[in-house]
Amino acid sequence: MMRRPTTCARFLIWLIVILGCLAAGGAPVARESAQSGAPAERHSVWVHPPEVGRDREAVRAFVEQCRRAHIETIILLVKGMNGEIYWPSQRFSAAVVKGYESFDLLRELGAAARPHGIKVHAWLVDFVEGLNSPALKAHPEWAQLNHAGGTTGTETLGKRKRPYPYVWMCPARRPGYTDQWLLPMIEELAKNPAVDGIHHDYIRYPGDVAPDSFCFCDYCLTHIPRYAMLAYETRSSERYDVDVRQERVEANWWTDPTMLPSTYSKAERRERADFLLNGRTIPGGPPDVRYFFYDYRVEQIDRFAREVHELVKKVNPKLEISAAVFKNPVQSARFIGQQWHRWNEWIDIYTPMTYRSHFAGSFESYLDHLEETTRRQLEWTRHGRPLEAGIATTYLYREELQPFEDMNDAIETLRDLQSSVQDAQAAQRQLNAAVYVLEGASGDARQAREMAMKRLVAAHDRLQKRLAPLAPDTAKTLAQLVKAAEEASPEQQATAVAGLSAELANVRADLPPGFCPPEKLARAIDAARRAKPDGIVIFAASSLKREKLWPALEKAFAK
Ligand SMILES: [Zn+2]
Repeated sequence: MMRRPTTCARFLIWLIVILGCLAAGGAPVARESAQSGAPAERHSVWVHPPEVGRDREAVRAFVEQCRRAHIETIILLVKGMNGEIYWPSQRFSAAVVKGYESFDLLRELGAAARPHGIKVHAWLVDFVEGLNSPALKAHPEWAQLNHAGGTTGTETLGKRKRPYPYVWMCPARRPGYTDQWLLPMIEELAKNPAVDGIHHDYIRYPGDVAPDSFCFCDYCLTHIPRYAMLAYETRSSERYDVDVRQERVEANWWTDPTMLPSTYSKAERRERADFLLNGRTIPGGPPDVRYFFYDYRVEQIDRFAREVHELVKKVNPKLEISAAVFKNPVQSARFIGQQWHRWNEWIDIYTPMTYRSHFAGSFESYLDHLEETTRRQLEWTRHGRPLEAGIATTYLYREELQPFEDMNDAIETLRDLQSSVQDAQAAQRQLNAAVYVLEGASGDARQAREMAMKRLVAAHDRLQKRLAPLAPDTAKTLAQLVKAAEEASPEQQATAVAGLSAELANVRADLPPGFCPPEKLARAIDAARRAKPDGIVIFAASSLKREKLWPALEKAFAK
């Protein structure tokens, strides 16, 4: 005869069923490791909108993938490099990407993720806008300027001097981009019920273009000396010389010399910028005014981090603030104004980008550098806030992916040569200029084209070694296109190269499994773990898909 369960036993059964359901439902936010009772390792992933999809089913499938990989925080891009935004904002409607005014990505993702205990952080590229963005069009005066009065859009990148396609906005100017555009956007996101956190990216000055050239806008030219109080605003016409009492001239700094030259306010932008970078605070002393330039920039970024914290916590104290930061806060303070190890008050979770792309050396050396750097990051922040070690999958595969880069580089050279020949032909037609100019150019171009083609073929041979055993058909198609480009006449070459370039992009976008060995990702995660960070954050969902690494991540994060 079966005994009926007592009330107490029934309660226990109920409890077991509930707990079982919770466990089956995925990873609750505050997991604990079974052995130690210590908080479990946190897992996050950076996600671009196309990865999530554009309908409910796709969003659910993406969340399911994250759940299988034990991800607890999805960091979703909502404001990109061109100032474009991915939520149906009324106030910033001009910046909304087409299609996202009717499809509420955040709401769908939040609805799918929350039942699994997965949080959604709204990721913003803070200070960057595109050349044609609505913010820049409405307020060109908000942009950062260099000593020549140009925006970052007038700078070039690399040896080929490619135009830099982004405009960095001045973090300091008030009223300006920070308080009129960025903070109101963040407030709107903080009020969005689907958002669990705000994620800072590009919370800094530009680094890859001319770190010491920004910002010398009118506001900053006035405010850098004011910030450091290099002169008095009251009795501003009175000037004091250094009172030399000590032998070392800089030892007399406290005698109150007027550090700002009397000519400063009337000088040209170029001269004022030159003083701020190369000037001497004590006549005859070392060139040290740039110390105040760097400190001012750090202060502007600090101030923004503080203001976002105040704003977000006022809207909802439960919201988290996370930040993608450079690997070394002491160096990034000097180069990009990002002294992030002093942000414990304003940031809840650090996600430093300790990517291999920021290190020289082999993959094996990277593993050691990743561990050492993560240890130092925890030291710098004094373990004051959770820190998730940021690993970018693509850069782990420098060796495997190099042939793609080399082939693309050769293709670009071929295209440049093509357009320069066209330019020369156009010039000749226009001016009916001396024929030898064109012939000379063609002769050089022919030789350069042959060399670029040789590089292309050599890189392709290297690529074939990895590709052919894994995807023979793809490899064959690619080989045929390379052959076609090689054998094409100069007139046909542009078309042949375009075809090859398109196919190469297809192959890169959908690599066969194993092309990027999954054990490299596992070893990088293990290396970071040896430093005992609070978690791991992966860049990015798109590369996990391209490089077929989701299964490897599921395995690594299951531990
Ligand atoms: Zn400025």
